[in-house]
Amino acid sequence: MENSGRFDLIIIGAGAMGSSAAYQAAKRGQKTLLLEQFDFLHHRGSSHGESRTIRATYPEPYYSPMVIESEKLWREAESEIGYNVFFKTEQIDLGPADNSSLLAVVANCKKHSINHRILNRHQSNSRFSISIPEDWIAVVTELGGVLKPTKAVAMFQTLAIKHGAVLKDKTEIVDVEMDECRSGVLVSSRLGEKFWGRKCIVTAGAWMCKLVEKVGDRGMVLPIQPVETTVFYWKIKGEEVDFSIGAGFPSFASYGEPYIYGTPALEFPDLIKITVHGGRECDPDKRTWGAAVAGTEGMTMAIGCLKEWIRSTFGERIDWEDGPVMSQSCLYSMTPDEDYIIDFLGGKFNEYVMVAGGFSGHGFKMAPVVGRILVDLASGGKAAAVQLNEEIKHFKLGRFEGNPRGNAKGFEDQVRLR
Ligand SMILES: Cc1cc2nc3c(=O)[nH]c(=O)nc-3n(C[C@H](O)[C@H](O)[C@H](O)COP(=O)(O)OP(=O)(O)OC[C@H]3O[C@@H](n4cnc5c(N)ncnc54)[C@H](O)[C@@H]3O)c2cc1C
Repeated sequence: MENSGRFDLIIIGAGAMGSSAAYQAAKRGQKTLLLEQFDFLHHRGSSHGESRTIRATYPEPYYSPMVIESEKLWREAESEIGYNVFFKTEQIDLGPADNSSLLAVVANCKKHSINHRILNRHQSNSRFSISIPEDWIAVVTELGGVLKPTKAVAMFQTLAIKHGAVLKDKTEIVDVEMDECRSGVLVSSRLGEKFWGRKCIVTAGAWMCKLVEKVGDRGMVLPIQPVETTVFYWKIKGEEVDFSIGAGFPSFASYGEPYIYGTPALEFPDLIKITVHGGRECDPDKRTWGAAVAGTEGMTMAIGCLKEWIRSTFGERIDWEDGPVMSQSCLYSMTPDEDYIIDFLGGKFNEYVMVAGGFSGHGFKMAPVVGRILVDLASGGKAAAVQLNEEIKHFKLGRFEGNPRGNAKGFEDQVRLR
């Protein structure tokens, strides 16, 4: 077996979270190794593609401060690399005036002093040309916009290399063991390479459960369910510029049934992304890439809901009648409460191995702050003084002990499985 080096920190999984953590660690002078099973910037996980939305409007009070911090860190990384991955615009959250999630969003805006305006049907129409039903409201906040995922992950990886990290792709990790003698962990690849690390962070996305089941204490199963989701693009019939960030068009979410979200037009000419926050359970190694569900009841229903929503919200300015013109497949990693898992793995690994996963379809915007938190925790252990400590208490594994549902919520789930 080849011995391939000693590191302060080994990170397994080079999606948004692992790449951001590698950048943060290397920037602090830690000897860092980032390992990826496929090619870097591959399209088989969760962090590829043309757009992710950023918004501070969460019904849970603990996410908004993280987004606000993340915005600063996105800008810091951008200024270091010299190009933009974050295109800011307003965020608009639409929904019935009595919707419990939307009411919780408004309460959190007040709690965290997030500037917000509540528009009625008439105001939403005249400001954004977005039509909502009579009994709906529109909550407008300043922090919204689009992140470019593939470009952003490439940015983190480039910056990590610039600060001295070692990055290695096509390296599937199949084992992680404690090295009691030297107080560290030994990480092994399928091809027989071995890497030694003082600490290890696992950011394996939809493969998290499989990897932890293999290397963790006997019977350890993390409550993370891979879900295949399909993103839809629709043809703009009106003026594309009206749907652009330059014209003040917002990123948006609709808290109806189902939850629908989208981005301004900036990815493909004359197309706009409008899609349902949902999907179907899958094995990340046996993807159907959408084909097996193309004509199923679930997919037909999702497209039907989207058509109706687009017709009533944008009218004839978007071609809803002919259906979406393009789709893309991607993976969510769902936890039962849709909250992240960021914690020490515990058991035989005690504080040597950390896991960060279960980002439940809403993690991308947080990649900078999650990377920083992971490196703080890996450096300082359980007693580390970590910024946002109050917030990340909600992401501990212990919440599932004797309580498979996890954190209790006073509002409905957002992601729909079909
Ligand atoms: C369609 C879609 C839309 C989304 N929209 C938004 C949005 O608008 N806003 C938002 O904030 N978030 C959004 N998200 C969620 C966000 O993209 C994810 O939460 C985030 O990308 C998760 O990153 P990750 O690093 O945890 O996972 P991944 O990107 O999947 O990275 C995990 C990596 O680990 C590697 N790996 C796994 N096992 C091993 C192993 N054994 N050895 C080596 N490498 C391994 C994988 O190959 C993979 O590259 C969306 C997600 C999807 C799919």
